[in-house]
Amino acid sequence: MEPAAAVELFNRAPDQSVKFSVYTGDDDSTTEAPIREKVTYEVEKNSDIIHMKRSLTTSLYNLSQNEKFDNCSPLSQKVINYLVKCFSYVTAQNKGDSKGIQAAIKSIVPHDFGDHSSCETGWCKFKSNPGTYKHKELPYGKDMHGKKLELELNNIFNDYSTDAVAEKLAPLTNSPRNEALNSVIGSKNQKITFYGGSESNDFRVACGVAQTNLRYTYISTKSRTNKNVVTVLLGHNSLTFDIPVLLRNSESAFKERLQAMDVFFADCLKLFKTLVRENKTVVENSGVVSASHAAEDVIYLDRRHILMQTFKGNLHHPQYLKKNMIEKISGSGLAFQDLQRVYGRFGKEGLIATLSQPP
Ligand SMILES: [Zn+2]
Repeated sequence: MEPAAAVELFNRAPDQSVKFSVYTGDDDSTTEAPIREKVTYEVEKNSDIIHMKRSLTTSLYNLSQNEKFDNCSPLSQKVINYLVKCFSYVTAQNKGDSKGIQAAIKSIVPHDFGDHSSCETGWCKFKSNPGTYKHKELPYGKDMHGKKLELELNNIFNDYSTDAVAEKLAPLTNSPRNEALNSVIGSKNQKITFYGGSESNDFRVACGVAQTNLRYTYISTKSRTNKNVVTVLLGHNSLTFDIPVLLRNSESAFKERLQAMDVFFADCLKLFKTLVRENKTVVENSGVVSASHAAEDVIYLDRRHILMQTFKGNLHHPQYLKKNMIEKISGSGLAFQDLQRVYGRFGKEGLIATLSQPP
């Protein structure tokens, strides 16, 4: 499980005289909460700017789909792209300065609606040319208009300019290299198949790491080995069943090709019997999971299940929170009542800071 793996990695690092004092990730609390709770040293969390931009785009798109804005400027895909671009500019220009980021994000919507009083001269060209200024990327270069649209857009951008979000955003870190490694490993270890219980899992991950480090040459490095390589066709019970059937029904050309390729046959039933006889190696060779490990998993899943029930009939609804989000929130140890309490005391900002998930 991802949070358990993260905690283990962070806790094992000091053995090599290393501490991961900062980590960058997407803004869900599933991994962050266990790291805060179980890692033995202080870890600072930064937001991944790419995930942040993606979530802003989603929020704006949802707004354009779910609301009607009569007598307002259109909130088209082009306008959404432009708003996200403004967000990218102002965050990049204020890298490392959370207060600057906060102020600049707050000025995006007023700027687009023609109020430049809080704009920075760095990115807003109005101040240098007030008479002839036109928005380059808004329809007809005109200011946006419409009270309702302005209010809704301000609501969204305010979520990204709270103290908590600006702090985490300021270092402008991202994790594309991790994402790239993740997708290379994912191509060899698809989530759709449960390789976690198979010995091939380690090799699949190792291949992904090797390919990332050495590119595709990792394959030729392997084939250039000086060791005597033997190709073996391994099957369960194959010596008494599969192989005789295969050979009996194949043409002589096929048999000749097998011989030319120097292919050997082996029966893993025999191997298994040997391992059982030797007793100790079966466990070592089966990739077994300890009972305590399995029990820990069960406790985690049971607790998550109980917490998930608290969201039933509350927030769990296809339109608001889907099942996988409920799983994540419950998995981090929060019940619906916890969120309610936070909302009661600190309002929407408190919820955002707790979940670190701007809507
Ligand atoms: Zn401006």
